[in-house]
Amino acid sequence: MFNIETYIRDIHDFPKKGIVYKDITPLLQDAAATRKTVAAFLSFLEGEKIDKVVGIESRGFFFATLLAQELNAGFVPIRKPGKLPFETYRESYALEYGEDTLEVHSDAIKKGERILVHDDVLATGGTAAAACKLVEKMGGEIVQCNFLMDLGFLNGKEKLEAYKVVSLVSY
Ligand code: 5GP
Repeated sequence: MFNIETYIRDIHDFPKKGIVYKDITPLLQDAAATRKTVAAFLSFLEGEKIDKVVGIESRGFFFATLLAQELNAGFVPIRKPGKLPFETYRESYALEYGEDTLEVHSDAIKKGERILVHDDVLATGGTAAAACKLVEKMGGEIVQCNFLMDLGFLNGKEKLEAYKVVSLVSY
């Protein structure tokens, strides 16, 4: 059986001392494993029509674009401030110390469009919750939020209670 965990490697003390970073580049290096990962995500979406797949900067972009192609949907990047060239909407959210902001192009999502939100990791849930708020401000309807993995001990799913959440691996 395909075991995605085999392709995710722990990097200790990155980006700061004390953090164990989940590195997905071994997965991306392997075409067959990447294909199986896309198939695993699609199995949770059978019968759902998706208009746009939203990928969160930057590691969310990889599978969001692959999924968008398979779902015959458009891809929408949500990025850190100052990266998107056109007019944007913004949403700020709290971090442990300070805050961060996400932006999306103002023409990226139309009212009533059915949206899949994707990122690589669900940790505290702050990033994904802010992305969902942006989508909803624009009138998008969130069908599902999916992640390669969630760090269960950080309870990120609680911040996404209002949505269907899919995670392929829980740590
Ligand atoms: P949250 O807002 O849920 O606390 O953090 C999620 C964001 O941080 C995601 O965009 C994710 O890419 C990044 N992130 C947090 N921890 C890790 C990790 O261990 N590995 C990777 N690849 N990304 C992480």
